[in-house]
Amino acid sequence: MNENIYAILARGFPQNPDAPFLILPDGKRYSYQEMEQETARYAHVLITSGLTQGDRVAVQVDKSAAAIFLYLGCVRAGLAYVPINPECQSEDVDYFLNDADAAVLVCRPDFLEKARQLAWHSAASTVFTLGMDGEGSLAEAARAQPTTFTTARCAADALAAIMYTSGTTGRPKGAMLTHRNLSSNALVLHAYWGFVVGDVILHMLPIYHTHGLFVATHCAMLNGSPLLLEPRFDAQRALQLLAQATVLMGVPPHYAALLNEPGLNLEACAHMRLFISGSAPLLASTFQEFRHRTGHAILERYGMTEGGMLVSNPLEGERRCGTVGFPLPGVQARVIDKQGRTLAPNQIGHIQIKGPNLFSCYWRMPQKTRDEFTPDGFFKTGDVGRMDAQGYLTIVGRFKDVIQVGEQEVYPKEIETAIDLLPGVVESAVIGLPDRITGANVAAVVARKGTGPHPTAGDITSALKTAFADFKIPKAVYFVDQLPRNGMGKVQKNLLREHYRLGGL
Ligand code: AMP
Repeated sequence: MNENIYAILARGFPQNPDAPFLILPDGKRYSYQEMEQETARYAHVLITSGLTQGDRVAVQVDKSAAAIFLYLGCVRAGLAYVPINPECQSEDVDYFLNDADAAVLVCRPDFLEKARQLAWHSAASTVFTLGMDGEGSLAEAARAQPTTFTTARCAADALAAIMYTSGTTGRPKGAMLTHRNLSSNALVLHAYWGFVVGDVILHMLPIYHTHGLFVATHCAMLNGSPLLLEPRFDAQRALQLLAQATVLMGVPPHYAALLNEPGLNLEACAHMRLFISGSAPLLASTFQEFRHRTGHAILERYGMTEGGMLVSNPLEGERRCGTVGFPLPGVQARVIDKQGRTLAPNQIGHIQIKGPNLFSCYWRMPQKTRDEFTPDGFFKTGDVGRMDAQGYLTIVGRFKDVIQVGEQEVYPKEIETAIDLLPGVVESAVIGLPDRITGANVAAVVARKGTGPHPTAGDITSALKTAFADFKIPKAVYFVDQLPRNGMGKVQKNLLREHYRLGGL
């Protein structure tokens, strides 16, 4: 059997070759047949450039139909896809190119000169360009190629992609994902989230990350469904498109932005089957207000670059607010203490994961890989959480965000949840700031609602004092209009720590 992820996705392609695969904002459509033809062309260009199975193709382009075809063409040809966030500057691209030892770099047309210089002192023998409207040297070369291609035979453990972790400390690590990692996750999610004939996915996520590149795209393909492919998230546009879609995969700020739209109501969501959220914690207030306004309980799930989706709230049964649900079928999750013992329900500890979707290696970092796995094959996620007696997992935060105040540990989520419930607060981030005596002190950065009475720092600390021990009470409270987030909706606590450590200048 061919284990190539493309061959496995192809099992779900619709019988009608004219069925739409991509529907673009201007109404242009690509059918499944056209997708097969386009991906064949891209696969041919890459192979005729001299690449052989396992070679890396680094890609830094804007989101477009052509970019999706390029990704699929790569894996179809048995090449390893290495996406780079379009926001990355030259020195990051240089690092990825050299680290991945990429044979080809595909970049935006306006980056060509820079890309040539970078390629000059890397292993990349060829630089292609690809623009948002399908222009550039790659698309041009593809046009001359045949429209059929025999999908490369790949073993399950053949490399399909290298995804760099967003790591805020140290060098980004390249998680090596195999065809089996991708296909096992796609097959499980397709079944677990109950995809049905007629589903249409609204795709507003970036495609340099697991969430938009693999989860949304693979689920649609396995289901023979169309993607409404939008360049980026836009709440007003999303609201318009909900009438044509059935599934939205988003990150928490997307849902918060939708709630700011007065038109978000039961009627606007009548066509929708499922709203999925992940990549960062969903606020309880967002979950509740969304359910109240639309009748939909957002399904929150937990995943990461190294393993795709790991844990998810159920399709049927209770989607429990504040939790990320149960380990997906085939995935094992455990919460352990510092000695490696599995903890009793509701105790907070380190989350470890094992499953067929989990990567096996960081690219050319054998020691780092060994450090991150336990002897019995579990991956140390770096997240802290607790599992209740029913098996619902709650993420408390990243281990590196836990604040060590003297001998005591403070889990930011606990304090953030309490602050977020106070009147006039939108959300908060609790961080540790250095202290000469205790090592660190708790500080809170709070985004307040635009209107209405504004809580003061004193209001916040007095409210917390009724529920928490003194060492957990923020010694400083800072107010901001909004918390800094990266493209995947994650609050950038490293930026906050840096900013307020320097006195909040
Ligand atoms: P990334 O590798 O960029 O996808 O980031 C993975 C990290 O995002 C995880 O290790 C978690 O810390 C965080 N994350 C993902 N999903 C959730 C979620 N639903 N709730 C809280 N944190 C999440």
